[in-house]
Amino acid sequence: MRPRDRLRIAMQKSGRLTEPALELLKRCGLTFRQSRDKLFCFGEGEPVDLLLVRDDDIPGLIAQGVCELGIVGRNVLDEFRVTTGRDSEPLAELRPLGFGRCRLSIAVPQEFDYSEPAQLSGRRIATSYPGLLGAWLREHGVEAGVVTLAGSVEIAPKLGTADAICDLVQSGGTLVANQLREVDVLLESEAVLAGPQALPADERGDLIELLLKRLDGVIQVRE
Ligand code: ATP
Ligand code: ZN
Repeated sequence: MRPRDRLRIAMQKSGRLTEPALELLKRCGLTFRQSRDKLFCFGEGEPVDLLLVRDDDIPGLIAQGVCELGIVGRNVLDEFRVTTGRDSEPLAELRPLGFGRCRLSIAVPQEFDYSEPAQLSGRRIATSYPGLLGAWLREHGVEAGVVTLAGSVEIAPKLGTADAICDLVQSGGTLVANQLREVDVLLESEAVLAGPQALPADERGDLIELLLKRLDGVIQVRE
């Protein structure tokens, strides 16, 4: 395959991170001509194009070399690194971006008298983050059942399919609505710029450096 001379950034096609990510790229001087299928956006100024995908696919696309950079939640990036054992591989968190803040937390039904992780021993915990939850349980020496669900994790206790959940929490409103209580935090998350540990030794590496410099300026101004 001929090396590409244009840089590709993957970001969420439609969701919580979409608007703030586009806004950030715009402030870094990147503008895009949206193509009709809206999966690929051609960059107009710099040779930087956008891939609009599901957030869960972003780390894999970077790992496969389909794109160089991605804007994705730390929760998704770290889950990928834990489950694929790519902790030491060249997939790095290059910059925290300051939006999409949330926590990956353990929550239990109101009547569960929780004070420490050991109380989860022998219980079933529903989550969309089996890798991060598994690592946290091991770290605390807890053996629990992990029930992996793609979505609607918060209703699992009411359905009787789990005793607790491990899910993303922002305001806590969803938990309250489901009579759940946040009791432990596994990860403080926000959107991050994900990319290679070592920059490619070609024009794309120079472009990434330029982008990082602009990003640092934009983030500094905002702080
Ligand atoms: P996709 O269709 O791309 O898979 P999704 O439903 O997985 O979308 P969103 O709900 O849009 O994704 O969330 C994207 C990211 O926003 C999360 O991975 C997380 O980093 C962040 N986030 C911030 N607050 C919350 C929250 N309350 N619930 C879920 N995600 C949140
Ligand atoms: Zn997703």
